[in-house]
Amino acid sequence: AWRPDGDDDRTRRTGSAVKVRVPAKINLHLGVGPLRPDGYHELNTVYHAISIYDELTARRGDTLTLTMEGEGAGELALDETNLVIRAARALAAHARVPAHARLHLRKQIPLAGGLAGGSADAAAALVACDALWGTGLSRDELAEIAAGLGSDVPFLLHGGTALGTGHGESVSPVLARPTTWHWVVAVAERGLSTPAVYHELDRLRAESAAPAPLGPADDLLAALRQRDPAVLGAALGNDLQAAALALRPALADVLKVAQAAGALAGIVSGSGPTCVFLAADAAHGGRIAAELAAAGVCREARTAHGPVPGARVI
Ligand code: ATP
Repeated sequence: AWRPDGDDDRTRRTGSAVKVRVPAKINLHLGVGPLRPDGYHELNTVYHAISIYDELTARRGDTLTLTMEGEGAGELALDETNLVIRAARALAAHARVPAHARLHLRKQIPLAGGLAGGSADAAAALVACDALWGTGLSRDELAEIAAGLGSDVPFLLHGGTALGTGHGESVSPVLARPTTWHWVVAVAERGLSTPAVYHELDRLRAESAAPAPLGPADDLLAALRQRDPAVLGAALGNDLQAAALALRPALADVLKVAQAAGALAGIVSGSGPTCVFLAADAAHGGRIAAELAAAGVCREARTAHGPVPGARVI
């Protein structure tokens, strides 16, 4: 279905752009298996997409370029290492089309925050370039390319709430009656490196200084079906939390302040340092966010809700 640039008169005349919105993820349950000889950990996780979004705009161009604004601008490399560029190149190679596009990223998902912002941007690039180039890949084909880019990328195409296994790359949607959950997201001053956090967990486990591993997500899945935020709150869990707290002890203050402010529950998101708190409703979330901001224990406290859809053209 692809036609060379010059043939697409409508796009060329109007300079029409494709805009894709993609959410951040949190893990409601993150069970990390033992370190395997291949250096990986088997994961048992429940992904949940929340309403903090990056936006990627794709326009026609003669080469592949990326510009950005927002979170991480001036800090994040915009070269071939960027997941947006890697995703665009992977799609072009798969569809056998030239990787020509002018891409612009508006980033609201903090860098290295445990919210999978890089993976989100990769998912956004796949959807945006597929639309711009008219390659018309199926969701399954996009998911296959996504899995090659990173373990969280397939989920961010998908969105919603989903069970992830393997390294996280095989995802299956969690079927539950529609419920909206309200979250407060405490953004830290600086990010944490995901490999460093896994390393710290391995070290704590070797010293028998880590809490018992969570294992499968059955209790969390049962809690999701009950639609009661207090029940969901009691079921949240993250095997990486002890490691993130060991590397960033100040996170304990964030958890303490939110608990005192009445949060139903709180956890470190993924590898951290972002912490997320469950609220009873939107107004309750607003009050917790205000108290976190007033206490000065984080760079920023935002409210969000979930689940929301994955990468979509808007
Ligand atoms: P995860 O939990 O998926 O490991 P994270 O949410 O902690 O990741 P990200 O912001 O997704 O952190 O990415 C971590 C690193 O990935 C960044 O420090 C950066 O070096 C690299 N990266 C490459 N492309 C991107 C991108 N578009 N946005 C963010 N990070 C990117």
